Amino acid sequence: MRIVRFGRGTWGSVEGEVIRATRGPGGPSTGRTYRLHEVRLLPPARPTKIVCVGRNFRGHIREMGHDSLPQEPGLFLKAPNALAAPDEAIPYPAFTHLLHYEGELAAVIGRTMREVPEEAALDHVLGYTCTLDLTARDVQAKDLQWVRAKSADKFLPLGPWLATDLDPQDVWLRTYVNGELRQEGHTADMIFPVARILAYISSFMTLVPGDVVLTGTPEGVGELRPGDEVEVAVDGVGVLRVRIAPAVPG
Ligand code: MG
Repeated sequence: MRIVRFGRGTWGSVEGEVIRATRGPGGPSTGRTYRLHEVRLLPPARPTKIVCVGRNFRGHIREMGHDSLPQEPGLFLKAPNALAAPDEAIPYPAFTHLLHYEGELAAVIGRTMREVPEEAALDHVLGYTCTLDLTARDVQAKDLQWVRAKSADKFLPLGPWLATDLDPQDVWLRTYVNGELRQEGHTADMIFPVARILAYISSFMTLVPGDVVLTGTPEGVGELRPGDEVEVAVDGVGVLRVRIAPAVPG
């Protein structure tokens, strides 16, 4: 099933070009239908927090200049203010001169998780989607913590919908900028698989329905410019597309 959120916050399931409205994500049908191309999609999650893994692909660890692999997942947070919708225009913030894309697979929690073992972790996932972990790379290097570098407004485009039937360790993840392939990674190459990440987080932090977990980016991160179009494609999910807003003539 593909779970979508649209309009003023209506949930639905996508079948081809048709959305069937539901009561809540994955809930019973309300009987109303919509055309996919006639609605405005929203991020398919209403998280209390977004937990992100910083280094989960060897190639990305190398390109960031680190030579040792992490022994356990290195986590940081984004806040819900960072969410942005599919097809949204993201303003290029004035505080950075080095805005980077990081295409990632995101898991959205469906059942409360507290001290859940790895073997049962994926049973608590509602679905998976595409995301862009936008990062102000210059500010990341100089600020004490990553709040501004990682969690500015609209630094977390998410969507276009949740795929419920997905093996999160068996998909290709690709990022395109202006149609050009920039990142290509397979989730089998994650250092920490999704189930281990979720179990690890739940060992000290309760995850509740709607919370979002980002699983790390493969190598090939790079710079965005005003006017760029970015696409994150995950096999079995679809394509998340956003634009960096063009520079305002000043
Ligand atoms: Mg990232």
